[in-house]
Formats: sequence, C-alpha cells, structure tokens
Amino acid sequence: MSTLEVTDLRASHGQLNAVHGVSLSVRPGEMLFLLGSNGAGKTTLLRSIAGDHRADGGNVVLSGVDVSRDTAHHRARSGLSLVPEGRRLFPKMTVRENLMLGTSTSREGPWTIDAIYEAFPNLAKLDRSLAGKLSGGEQQAVAIGRALMGDPVAVMLDEVSLGLSPAAVEFAYEALLRLREMGLALLIVEQDLNRALTTADQLVVMCEGQVTLRATPRETSLAELAAASFGHKKGEAA
Ligand code: ATP
Repeated sequence: MSTLEVTDLRASHGQLNAVHGVSLSVRPGEMLFLLGSNGAGKTTLLRSIAGDHRADGGNVVLSGVDVSRDTAHHRARSGLSLVPEGRRLFPKMTVRENLMLGTSTSREGPWTIDAIYEAFPNLAKLDRSLAGKLSGGEQQAVAIGRALMGDPVAVMLDEVSLGLSPAAVEFAYEALLRLREMGLALLIVEQDLNRALTTADQLVVMCEGQVTLRATPRETSLAELAAASFGHKKGEAA
C-alpha cells in the first residue's frame, strides 16, 4: 500500500488554476522527486497536500485513510509533514527549541531529541546554537529534524537544495537517504535535475499545473526531464 496517495488534486490562486488534476503516490521507503520550472505549481501542490492551501478538488490518502477534508494540523497528526521552502526556522531560538516545535502534532513514535541527535550527530553539536547563526545546510538539517519530531510516515520537502552550497546539499541528502532507509515516504521538490536522476525512485515533472512526465531514472534522461519541464510530453520533440 502507498503511504501517500494523491488523486486528481486541483488547486488555484483566485482565478489562476495552478494545479490541474495531479495524481501521484509514494510508497514506504521511496523517494519521489517532483520537478518543473518556476511557477509550474509544485509548491501549491505540496501545500494543498499538506492542507495549508485549500484544494478545489481531489483526494489525499495517507496510510489508507482519506485526509482530504482534514485540517493541516490533523494531517500532521496523521503523519504528514511538510518542510517548506526557505525552511522557516525561528532564527533567535536554539536548535533544540526549534526541534521541540516539531512535537506539536503529539503523535506517538520513535523520534525524540536524543534520537535525532543520534541519527544526525552533526546536529547534536549545535544543540545550543541559535538557528539564525547556522549555515544553510545545517538549517536544512534542523528543518528535517523538526519534521521528524512529529513522527511522520511521509515527509514533503520543498526546494531542498535551494541556496545551499554543494557541501550543504550533500549534508541534507545524507539525512534524506537515511530516512528512506527507515521506510519513510519522501516527496521532494528539487531544481537539480542531475540530483533527481541519480537519487530518485520515481520522477514526476510538472509544467503549468500538469504532469508532463512520469518515469523512473532508468526510463528517462536529463534531456527528457528538461524538455518535460518546458511542457514537452514524452515522445514530442523538444
Ligand atoms: P517556484 O519554484 O517558483 O516556487 P512552483 O512550481 O512551486 O514554482 P507555485 O509557487 O506553486 O509554483 O506557483 C504556481 C502558480 O501559482 C504560478 O503561476 C504562481 O505565480 C501562482 N501563485 C503562487 N502563489 C500565489 C499566490 N499566493 N497568489 C497568487 N498566485 C500565486
């Protein structure tokens, strides 16, 4: 059974239809990369799945339970977590305080501060540091840790490597690969097509609110991903 199953999701901003009936599913221990150029509708899709943005239609099913009518808070309590673009940490609070904010879902599960620090020893060293003083990669790791504190079954991450140095991107992806090994379902928005092609289990490309390509890395190429980002469907000349 899929951990996260999204069917025919539609969402808009006023008159603008930003997401036109997108379906996708992510199984336990799977990484689905969602690609597409600026304005393709990726953030709107993630926020609608999380319940932060009201969808116009479609369904979101989490571990077999339809959460489409639930509030964002209820979806989080059901095990769905979103790491937003820009990470949105509280810069004047310490790493530990930021991590503690992730417990607001009050779900039962294995993740505690100690478990996070054990899994990510580099974060343990930063326990008392102010989040605003950390590097981009460290901040991304804190944001991932905060998501884990809610004991999710599915984690969505918007623009994982945006604004990060190559070393910081590696740092963030090491954490994500560990989560995949642990069996979480990961839905990742990424601009770096190379990274997606080398790391993903599934690739979904969007353009103007629609899916233009679905493939596994073996079934596609960098050129095809780039063409799909500009709206070319598979088999069409770029
Ligand atoms: P980006 O990488 O730039 O964030 P994206 O693929 O995440 O792109 P969205 O941010 O979901 O795309 O935007 C989809 C469409 O909705 C775009 O045309 C965008 O201009 C529009 N849009 C996004 N947010 C709003 C908003 N708050 N109000 C009005 N229009 C919006």
